[in-house]
Amino acid sequence: MTAFIIDGKAVAQRVKDEVKTAVSAMKDQFDYVPGLATVLVGDDPASATYVRSKQRTCEALGIRSIGHHLPADASQAEVEGLVRELNADPSVNGILVQLPLPKHLDEEAVLNSISLEKDVDGFHPVNIGRLAMKGREPLFIPCTPAGCMELLAEAGTTISGAEAVIVGRSNIVGLPMAMLLQKANATVTICHSRTRDLTAHLKRADIVVAAIGRARMITGEMLKPGATVIDVGINRVEDPSAKRGYRLVGDVDFDSAVAVAGAITPVPGGVGPMTIAMLMKNTLRAAEIALQKRQS
Ligand code: NDP
Repeated sequence: MTAFIIDGKAVAQRVKDEVKTAVSAMKDQFDYVPGLATVLVGDDPASATYVRSKQRTCEALGIRSIGHHLPADASQAEVEGLVRELNADPSVNGILVQLPLPKHLDEEAVLNSISLEKDVDGFHPVNIGRLAMKGREPLFIPCTPAGCMELLAEAGTTISGAEAVIVGRSNIVGLPMAMLLQKANATVTICHSRTRDLTAHLKRADIVVAAIGRARMITGEMLKPGATVIDVGINRVEDPSAKRGYRLVGDVDFDSAVAVAGAITPVPGGVGPMTIAMLMKNTLRAAEIALQKRQS
C-alpha cells in the first residue's frame, strides 16, 4: 500500500486564490483594503526570510503589507509601544510579531499587548483560552494548526471519533492542534519528551501530527496501517549533493511511513505552505471584522 500524498502546495494555493478573490471583492464593494503589519526585531536571517515571504504573499493577494523592523537591542517599551501604535491604526487589520524575539524581551507580554481583534497569529491567551473551552470560539486560530486541519479535510480523514496522537506540545503547534482536534471530536493524546512509550501510542493512532523538531524520528513501523500522518517538522540534514549543502526533512521518515500510512504530508510541500496561506485567511477575517464594526 502506498499512502495518498497530501499536496500542501495545491491546498495552500486554493486558500490563497479564495483570499485574493475576497480581497478584490472587498475593495470593489467597500473600497477597503486589508492591511497586515509585520514586526521584526533583530537580524535573525531565518526570521527575516519568513517575514519577507509573508510580505510577498500579502502583495500577491492584494493585502497591504506594512513592515516594521526594530534593532536587536530594542527595549520592551519600544516593542510594546509599536504594537500599541499598530493597535490604534485603523489601516492595520492584523499584527504579526515574528517569533522568536531576542532573549531579553518578554515574549508573553508582547503577545498580550496585541489587540484581540488584530491577533491574526492566534497566539493571544484569550484566543487560545477560547480554543480550549467548550462552546467558545476564538476569533483567530493559530495558522499552522489551522493549516493542518485543512490538510486533514483534503485527505478526507474522518476526525470525529478518531484516535489522534499529537507529538509535541508547544504553544504554537502541538497544544492548539490538540485543542482543535478535540473540538472536532477526536480522542486526543498528547505525547512529548517525557512520554514513556511513544510507539504504543502511535500504533493505535488514526491521525498522527508530528511537531517535534527531530529529523525523521517517527518511522513507518511505529504507525498504524492506514493512518493519516501530518508532518509539521522542518529539519535541516546535511546533503553534499544539494546546492546549499543541506536539505529539509520532516519529523517523520517519509520513505518508510509512506508504505504504511493511508495519507501523508511531504516535507517540503506539506504543512509549510499552509501556514502563510492561513495567515492570509486570518488577515482577511480581521478585515471583515473591522468592516462590520465600521458599518454598525
Ligand atoms: P518546540 O521545540 O517548541 O516543541 C517540540 C515538542 O516536541 C516539545 O513539546 C517536546 O517535548 C517534543 N519532543 C522533543 N523531543 C521529543 C521526543 N524525543 N519524543 C517526543 N516528543 C519530543 O517546537 P515547535 O512546536 O515550535 O516546532 C516543532 C517542529 O515544527 C519544528 O521542526 C519546527 O521547525 C516545525 N514548525 C513548522 C512550521 C510550519 O509552518 N511547517 C511552523 C512551526 C514549527 P517537551 O514539551 O517535553 O519538551
